[in-house]
Amino acid sequence: MLIQNGIPTAEDILSVTPPKERFAKGAVAIAECFQKIPCNPCTKACVKKAIRVEPDINETPRIDFDVCNGCGACIARCPGLAIFVVDKTYSDTEALVKLPFEFLPVPKEGQLACGLSRSGEELGWFPVVKAVSGGKKNMTWTVTLAVPKELAMEVRNIKAGGYQDGR
Ligand code: SF4
Ligand code: SF4
Repeated sequence: MLIQNGIPTAEDILSVTPPKERFAKGAVAIAECFQKIPCNPCTKACVKKAIRVEPDINETPRIDFDVCNGCGACIARCPGLAIFVVDKTYSDTEALVKLPFEFLPVPKEGQLACGLSRSGEELGWFPVVKAVSGGKKNMTWTVTLAVPKELAMEVRNIKAGGYQDGR
């Protein structure tokens, strides 16, 4: 349970998961942010205004999945590392998962990275499709992994230093 071990329950995840019809349209953001804390940089990061924290800053964020285009700009701006983008339309067998990453070294495009579940379980080795810096004033990177479709809602972190070369 989140309050005891920091791991959200299946019900928590379901409550913020886009419907399958939205997944079928392409990349979409998911805010796995469940605690009422005074925080809202995600709302400022989204130029499309798809994320709202209302009626006050202590509320948890809500994403309008019809407005979100899955650009991923909000990922590195979330201090809680709670926002992910999932694209289940990447290929017949793989989905893209864009996730925040703050360890060094950062995995490089073309490497394989060891993907972790929300509880830290190793789920396999997945190709790094892209790694984008958050910029000079933001040490958070956004790393995109190609994962089997069935793991699109499971892979949520990368094992620090857990990289191999090539597919
Ligand atoms: S992925 Fe892009 S469009 Fe979607 S909520 Fe984040 S910043 Fe907004
Ligand atoms: S910035 Fe991150 S931690 Fe803060 S409200 Fe938005 S999703 Fe939650």
